[in-house]
Amino acid sequence: ETGQSPASNRAGATDARSAAWRDDRRHVLHSWSAQALIDPVVVAGAQGSWFWDEHGTRWLDFSSQLVNVNLGHQHPALVEAIRAQAATLCTIAPYHANEATARAARMIAEVAPGDLDRVFFTNGGAEAVENAVRIARQHTGRHKLLSMYRSYHGATAGAIALTGDPRRWNAEPGPPGVVRFWGPYAYRSSFHARDEAEEGERALAHLQQTLELEGPHTVAAILLESVVGGNGILVPPDGYLQGVRDLCDRHGIVLIADEVMAGFGRCGEWFAIDRWGVVPDLITFAKGVNCGYVPLGGVIVSERIAQAYQQRPFPGGLTYSGHPLACAAAVACIGVYRSEGLIERARRIGAQIIGPALAAMRERHASVGEVRGLGAFWAIELVRDRATRAPLVPFNAACAANAPMAELVAACKRGGVWPFAAGNRLHIVPPLNIDEADLRHGLAAIDEALSVADRYAVD
Ligand code: PLP
Repeated sequence: ETGQSPASNRAGATDARSAAWRDDRRHVLHSWSAQALIDPVVVAGAQGSWFWDEHGTRWLDFSSQLVNVNLGHQHPALVEAIRAQAATLCTIAPYHANEATARAARMIAEVAPGDLDRVFFTNGGAEAVENAVRIARQHTGRHKLLSMYRSYHGATAGAIALTGDPRRWNAEPGPPGVVRFWGPYAYRSSFHARDEAEEGERALAHLQQTLELEGPHTVAAILLESVVGGNGILVPPDGYLQGVRDLCDRHGIVLIADEVMAGFGRCGEWFAIDRWGVVPDLITFAKGVNCGYVPLGGVIVSERIAQAYQQRPFPGGLTYSGHPLACAAAVACIGVYRSEGLIERARRIGAQIIGPALAAMRERHASVGEVRGLGAFWAIELVRDRATRAPLVPFNAACAANAPMAELVAACKRGGVWPFAAGNRLHIVPPLNIDEADLRHGLAAIDEALSVADRYAVD
């Protein structure tokens, strides 16, 4: 049914509770949700920046789903690449070479910074993190891992243990050897900093002290999201990531940049960390590498570290590593980013359209505490009181269970926009190739919906 027009969906729907809806409710366990508290929309089709349900209700996708469909839905180049690959070679064991996987790896190496030239492919982001950590431990012969509060790294055993947000609590106790540090977040500074620059300096001093007290010679890796995504689009101050790089160099620690969400153009760079000219030792990626049309992720490994695996075995493996269908989609996807100049476009729409529109919303709405972001990666942080910065709902609240956010999200949807809502934030993360008129229309709908949140805020 994918690709049907909304009209044909409407004609085909008989009642509000279709067989698909009933089967879903009876048999599917949805991620991170209390099943009785959700009422999923049955998506019947999608095209470009829009998707629609089985009754023909359409939404402009300001979420890019889980911040992965950077080229929107049903992009013809990706659909065709998958179709052609399926006709040639659907799958093959990863101990063989094949054209799609080899080309995808070469293209990823071409856009990756420095000497990050080798790729180990996984099925998604969490597996990428698991493998990056294993590589770092083997490379250093050390066990301890430092990860940043508020970074999210995935839901498998190791990745969730490294995650710095409350989703980790369900999986605890995690494996030993994980130590967390505070990253920069000037609006809610853990360091009582007065501005971004001071926040960056104090966060670095804190990391340095943490290292000293942990024993730098015991630390295998520092793992962080270059720009924190799911926990609020936290752009580090200039100099912070360079400072982390310097600490890693001084102590022989592997720097792992998790670019699963921020990479592949989302921040107006191939990788978010490129903005600061910093070269990590390992990059984890997924999502935007092929827009998730077929699951794919991986670790990009510096040549210096990869050299070890010339003579000894690489310490990981997956039946579907380098899956040809997923890699064919990646080849097409990176090709479209290049040919349509979408990395630059993300930077431009952020600077010229999204940033200014959100800044204007901050002026107009008492509930908007801070707006921040870059490229096509932005957040509106909502408060009850701008003077005290008291959040509209708790930072980690489930939106469905909190009236102000639930009402705000409902208002956005009534206005025809599907937002990415998390805790006390609306994230504005549309496809990088969203039509400019659609983007402006969606931002206007968000602006209007915010009056719902204003009712809960002190003016
Ligand atoms: N790392 C980051 C930064 C992410 O945002 C995510 C998912 O949102 C992951 C890792 C986990 O990726 P996956 O859900 O594909 O396992």
